Amino acid sequence: MGKITIAIDGFSSTGKSTIAKQLAKALDYVYVDTGAMYRAVTLFAMRQGFIGGETEDLEGLGNALSGLDLKFVYNKSLGFSEMYLNGENVEKEIRTLPVSQQVSKIATIEKVRVKLVAMQQDMGKKKGVVMDGRDIGTVVFPDAEFKIFMTASPETRASRRYKELLDRGEKVAYEDVLKNVQTRDYIDSHREFSPLRKAEDAIEFDNSDMGLKEQLERIYNFALRKIEGH
Ligand code: C5P
Repeated sequence: MGKITIAIDGFSSTGKSTIAKQLAKALDYVYVDTGAMYRAVTLFAMRQGFIGGETEDLEGLGNALSGLDLKFVYNKSLGFSEMYLNGENVEKEIRTLPVSQQVSKIATIEKVRVKLVAMQQDMGKKKGVVMDGRDIGTVVFPDAEFKIFMTASPETRASRRYKELLDRGEKVAYEDVLKNVQTRDYIDSHREFSPLRKAEDAIEFDNSDMGLKEQLERIYNFALRKIEGH
């Protein structure tokens, strides 16, 4: 059976990566977490002092991107790939709140988007990929055979993310997590280049009141129909 491209977009903390990972596993497809790439560029920008200090130099960051090496390395025991920045595994650090608080600003920079979109298109060129992000169905793979757009209420999403951060041992306040989710939604939807929006041919999924099992079953069945009709 021929392979297809599956694009999963939507607001922050809607569980895109959870469903994308499960779906990729069930179909034996490759999973690509494009948010991890924007997060790794953000960590690079913070470490190099382009952002997060007293002054900000977004243009300087745009010009420093040639010194940035991003790679996904498959971790067999985890069953998915981890993000490496210039040879270092940064999987944990890129998920912290300080990185989340800067990432949407970094994702507005055109040079950053051009570089990452080209890498993403290359990773998915053989199809058989489940990619999640904000612009996958609209910009990266506008011809993807199956597009999903995920939503849930900001409070539901913030509660999930809050719990996740606490479980990882990060000391955060719920109000800060909620504010971060809302701020990222706003910046992601209003930026000039590739704003977050639902592709016209995407199926919308509101999972505020849906369990993970039901969600996977429904999306998996949709995917099978798309693959069969392909
Ligand atoms: O998906 P995740 O929450 O890890 O993404 C982090 C941020 O990266 C998003 O809030 C958004 O600003 C940016 N992003 C993007 N385009 C993508 C994936 C992520 O702009 N395709």
